[in-house]
Amino acid sequence: MTPELLEQGAQRMQQRLAALEAARRQTASGGRSSGFSRPKAGDSLDLAHGRILYLEDVSVSFDGFKAINNLSLDIAPGELRCIIGPNGAGKTTMMDIITGKTRPDSGTVFFGSTIDLLRHTEPQIARLGIGRKFQKPTVFEQLSVFENLELALRMHKGVLSSLRFRRSAAQSERLLEVLETIGLQTSLQRQAGLLSHGQKQWLEIGMLLCQDPQLLLLDEPVAGMTDQETERTAELFLGLKGKHTLMVVEHDMAFIKAISETVTVLCEGSVLAQGPLSQVQADPRVIEVYLGR
Ligand code: ADP
Ligand code: MG
Repeated sequence: MTPELLEQGAQRMQQRLAALEAARRQTASGGRSSGFSRPKAGDSLDLAHGRILYLEDVSVSFDGFKAINNLSLDIAPGELRCIIGPNGAGKTTMMDIITGKTRPDSGTVFFGSTIDLLRHTEPQIARLGIGRKFQKPTVFEQLSVFENLELALRMHKGVLSSLRFRRSAAQSERLLEVLETIGLQTSLQRQAGLLSHGQKQWLEIGMLLCQDPQLLLLDEPVAGMTDQETERTAELFLGLKGKHTLMVVEHDMAFIKAISETVTVLCEGSVLAQGPLSQVQADPRVIEVYLGR
């Protein structure tokens, strides 16, 4: 890229930032706390039974092998649930079922008390408010941090006001909020391809947050991160819980220890144990499946 092009790009970015700040000042409350800008795709989600996700007796076989075997599990709104278990336990397959990527052979999967996820396609489930982070970061490497987030916001055709001004103000506000949440404010003009592995993961989480998901599924989010990045990710997740419901699959026990309330241990496609980390770690059946391999 020539210096002129770079200069032009920087100028455009400055203009956009100025517009963002201006839009931010014009929101109802002048900032982050204005409520109208945070409509949730799933405002209609029925949480009357205190469960945002409910799986009962779910099974799926691949070539006769039961990857998920009468799995039952539920999660409360705002919870940060950790899922652990040996390789091949069915953790990723469970996420595939929740997000509509894999259809179970039998069982029940509900989002809130009324939305039967087995009746929805993968894109529909995403629009209902379930976001998924795969293990490998998938950001647009050629675009800047800012442009990646902008793109994610634009793809979010939620229930934002149809009034043009309000939509842009709300989106700008959300973009700034997400940037702060993922701690990439000072890297917003940086090309995503030049970020560290951890920063790319945070950017992708930021892109998911732009879709305002009620439930976030994260598959091995700290794999390959430095210790410092892992600690920062723990803080990020602790900040997200409550506002969002999180289901986190991870092998990193220090990370699990830092973030966990309830830990579910999956083994051979079913729940083997569940409870506080110290309790499941002391469970002889859990010790057996971890040490017995
Ligand atoms: P985990 O994420 O806990 O390591 P997975 O859910 O990836 O486990 O896999 C559970 C089991 O199901 C493994 O034995 C895996 O080989 C098998 N499996 C997963 N997906 C498929 C598929 N699409 N076709 C065949 N076998 C699969
Ligand atoms: Mg897996």
